Parts: sequence; structure tokens; C-alpha cells
Amino acid sequence: MNQPSLREADPDVASLIAAEERREFEKVRLIPSENYVSRAVLEATGSVLTNKYSEGYAGKRYYEGQQNIDPLESLAVERARALFGADHANVQPYSGSPANLAVYFALLKPGDTVMGMALPHGGHLTHGWNVSITGAWFRSVQYGVNLETGRLDYDQMRDLARRERPRLIIAGATAYPRVIDFAAFRAVADEVGATFLADMAHIAGLVAGGAHPSPVPHAHVVTTTTHKTLRGPRGAMILCREDLAKAVDKAVFPGLQGGPHNHTTAGIAVALREAATPAFREYAHQVVRNARALAEALAGYGFKLVSGGTDNHLILMDVTPRGLTGKQFAKALDRAGLECNYNTVPGDPRKPFDPSGVRLGTPAVTSRGMKEPDMARIAAFFHEVAEAVEDPDALDRIAARVRDFTSAFPCPGILVG
Ligand SMILES: *Cc1c(COP(=O)(O)O)cnc(C)c1O
Repeated sequence: MNQPSLREADPDVASLIAAEERREFEKVRLIPSENYVSRAVLEATGSVLTNKYSEGYAGKRYYEGQQNIDPLESLAVERARALFGADHANVQPYSGSPANLAVYFALLKPGDTVMGMALPHGGHLTHGWNVSITGAWFRSVQYGVNLETGRLDYDQMRDLARRERPRLIIAGATAYPRVIDFAAFRAVADEVGATFLADMAHIAGLVAGGAHPSPVPHAHVVTTTTHKTLRGPRGAMILCREDLAKAVDKAVFPGLQGGPHNHTTAGIAVALREAATPAFREYAHQVVRNARALAEALAGYGFKLVSGGTDNHLILMDVTPRGLTGKQFAKALDRAGLECNYNTVPGDPRKPFDPSGVRLGTPAVTSRGMKEPDMARIAAFFHEVAEAVEDPDALDRIAARVRDFTSAFPCPGILVG
């Protein structure tokens, strides 16, 4: 049988993928939700498992031919339970947002009150923000950070819960640089009779590696993406105690989804095996050390860090004191080969499409083997870009030096360079 390669069959797509490989190799990738998966994860994800339909769960499927899928999904489930110490794991959610929606569907009726962190304070859309289905179909009340300290305001959160009596309390964030006190959330949930959902999407890899306290002992349900610090394929998992297992599984399938993405399940299983190794533990701690080093170096150049620093993988900074806007600076950084995203800062007087801040983090650069001295170099590039935002030629000259810098660091999963 003639089986042309991708390059032969579809040079358009092949060349875009090759260009993306080169881009990911050449750039300093600092978007804190992104990473580099291993070659093993890529292979599992790009496998014939994409051919197979498997609605249902291991041992209870609606299609024949599950001889390999059932043990595969069971392996992923067992590895997730062991790594995070959870009673039950569902590895089928297509991504983080559907995982959260499945939890809502398992536990709530439309119109029930939910309480999450406000998006402009660092929460996620699916924690009840108004444009999300979770804010439109549920009654959402939102807590935030103290605008002086940039840290979660646990007192405000507790007062709000006492007043509004939410059925579901959600902890977790996309732009919060500090440790989250999951025990404090659980105490409030117990006091008001709420279920406590911890969404550890951003920090799952740090939790797995022991570099951030785990929400699993405290939360009734934990959701996570698998593709951020956990360094797996794009997907998600729901972990819960045995008493909620049935409701969660039913909500994912048949409640919200059809067939699971078996190729993704395989990639998740591989990533979970990797995340259980001493090397990954070291990785998780290096992510945090690198973030701290980068934060200190940036502060030294006059960048204003929300909360004054970081405890995790992520840095949020207000760039307006340097006479910049977030979008302007993020675009200039991208031209110079340093990739981050513009972001609102808590209490931001500017609009979300051109906010005051940028958000960056160290999961991807740490996967390339960068260490603290390399963070100092990255901070120096940030300073140079801040001085040259209106000078495209200068930005291009910085980009050439950035390419030179990154060429010394191989990327997991990428063979170019
Ligand atoms: C990324 C993220 C999600 C959503 O994940 P997607 O896979 O993009 O749908 C949900 N919650 C939190 C806290 C996240 O950081």
C-alpha cells in the first residue's frame, strides 16, 4: 500500500508544523500554561488510538474491540490515583473547561449559587465568570485578592460564602503567583455546607513534584488539565473521593461527552509515569526556583510584580510604571523572541484587550534545562525590550541574540536545532 508521509501527502500542513517546531525551539517560551511534552508523549498522542471509539468506561463499553483500550485507560486511572493519592480518577474530559463543566453537572442544578475567583483577579472563566456558561446558567458570586497585597483575601471569601451560601466553592487560578491555602477553603465550605472544588490546572505538575501543597486531602473534587505544568497532552482529569465517583463519571459520560480521546488517554498515562519520577520532582522544584530568580531579576529592573514576587511557576507584573502597556510590551517581547501574554492585573483600570500587565512563567524554559543564571539573562532581555518597544530594528537585533541564547538548550520532543 502506498502510504505517503505527511510531507508528501500534505506539504502545506507539514511545513506549518515544521515552522512551529522551529519557532518553539528558537523562542524563549514564557506563557505559564504552556510546556514542551516529551517525545514519548508525542508518540502516544500521534498513535492509532485515535481510530478507536470507546464510549463508556473500562469493562462497560458500548463498542466492541476494547482489548487494548480498557487496560490503557485503567493504567492511566491507576497512575493518576497513585500520583495524587486520590480515591477515584476520571481521565476522559476533553480539556480543563469541560472537566469543570462536568463537575457542575454532577453536583448542581442550573441557577444554583457557585463561588469562584473573579477572572480579573486571576480566576478562570469556568469559575463562574459572566461570559462563561458557568456564569450564565448558574448564579455566580466572586471573591478576589486584596488590592494592596495582591494575595487572596480569605476573609472576604469567607464573608461572601456566609452571606451567599454557595453550593459549590471553587479554588484555583490562572494568574495567581502565590500558594493557595486549600485547607482554608475547605473550612469555609464545611461551615456553609458547600462542596469544595479545587481546580489545580496550572499547578498540577508542581503538586505532583511536591513543589506546591496538594489540594487532594482537602477538596471533595479536584480538576486539572494535563498539559500545563504536568507536561502531558492537552486533556484533563477529575479526581474525587469514592462517594462522588459515580456522579462524576456519569456527568462526563454520558452527561457531557461521547467517546473518550484514547490517543490522549495514552499520552496522559505516559506523562503520569514521567511525573512520578525523581527527575520530575527535581523539575517541579527547579520551575519554582527559576520563577523566583526571574521575579527577583525583573524587580531589579524596576518591573512591578503583583504580590511582590512568586511562590510558584508564575509571575504577574504591572508594566505601566515603566511607561508601557501590557499589549505593547507583550508584542515587542514576541518580536524579540520572548513569548508571554498580556494580562489584566488585579484592580486594573485598563481594558482586558490592552491591560496593564503581562503574565509569564517558567514551566517551558525549565523543561529545556534552564537554571537560575539563565533567568537573569532573560530578565536582562526584558529590560532591553522595554527600552526598545518603539524600535523594530532594535527588537530584531535582540531577537537574533535570543536565538543564539536558546540554541544551547534542547527542547523535549523537538529534533530541530
Ligand atoms: C487552563 C485552565 C482551565 C481550562 O483548561 P482548557 O484546557 O483551556 O479548557 C481551567 N481552569 C484553570 C484554573 C486553568 O488554568
